[in-house]
Amino acid sequence: MSIAPSNFYDFNYDSLNQYILDRFSIDQKKGGMRTNQLWKFVYKKGLHNIAQFSNLPSDLKTNLENNLSFKRVEISEKKISSDGTIKWLIKLADNNLVETVFIPSDNRGTLCISSQVGCTLNCKFCHTGTQMMVRNLSTSEIINQILIAKDELKDWGSQKKITNIVYMGMGEPFYNYDNVKQSVAILRNNHGLDYSAKKITVSTAGVVPEIMNAAKEIQTYLALSLHAPNDELRERIMPINKKYKIKDLIESCAYYAKVNKEKIFLEYVLLKNINDSLDCAKQLIKLMSKFPCKLNLIEFNAWPGVSYEPSSPDVIKQFYQAIKKSGHIVTLRKSRGEDILGACGQLKTESEKKRKSL
Ligand code: SF4
Repeated sequence: MSIAPSNFYDFNYDSLNQYILDRFSIDQKKGGMRTNQLWKFVYKKGLHNIAQFSNLPSDLKTNLENNLSFKRVEISEKKISSDGTIKWLIKLADNNLVETVFIPSDNRGTLCISSQVGCTLNCKFCHTGTQMMVRNLSTSEIINQILIAKDELKDWGSQKKITNIVYMGMGEPFYNYDNVKQSVAILRNNHGLDYSAKKITVSTAGVVPEIMNAAKEIQTYLALSLHAPNDELRERIMPINKKYKIKDLIESCAYYAKVNKEKIFLEYVLLKNINDSLDCAKQLIKLMSKFPCKLNLIEFNAWPGVSYEPSSPDVIKQFYQAIKKSGHIVTLRKSRGEDILGACGQLKTESEKKRKSL
């Protein structure tokens, strides 16, 4: 029985180096050079056809052919919003579907990637959360989302069109901790994609033990999906709060901020008559003074069947002003890509619909 080739995109730089030394009997002295060449072909030039890997000895090419897969995952569907947002529905080898969204703006291009097929956390306002959790993505499936987006955007030149990467698509990244950690290491490696830690944001609904681990092991920006200023309300809209309380979240985020010397992004989606009162704003201000953080207020995108509604523009303005007056940093995030359901909390409909018709 032949052994299935390993996937190139599952390796980080050091493990690839070790792999080719162990498997391809490469001279120890040349191992680093070969790893460097391979890494550059794949992550600097975007090549995935071994025939295009120039200056490699033919026996190494044969070994690569027989042992490693460089295959990309497939794009099942692509939609472009009137505001320039692009959403790709990506078909994995087992036919599961995940979504990747590119959000261009004046001075940056942000790619929002998924870490799981579906999500177990069932946040009540989130469309993805109503989709059954299927499985974690492998490192190569996470990395493939970036490679495919770069192929599509012709982003292999020195000027990066994808300037920022956010793990805010489908799934809870810290429930797929090892693969998220490995993928961040690949993104950050300066022989290849070379994204600095400050160009990557990992978002979590609040998995306290992994926030503590990630402070030293992942070290990107951290975004906490807070969405409520007290336990009672948060438990109602985010069941994960039954396990990890706000007090513990604050402690772990304070630790993360201290280790990384950066503020934590707090995500707060405004839901009409649920978490948008001035009293909630006051409670939020108190929480914000306990650790270095800044707040992203998000307009809610309603989806079919949801019982929540977006807050009115006046209420949003009042909430925003209350936080701003308190001296904390606050931004209001406009919804992008609404017309293609690529906006926050909407990453479900299309993949589910598509699955049904497969
Ligand atoms: S908001 Fe995030 S963590 Fe919560 S259900 Fe949606 S995808 Fe999962």
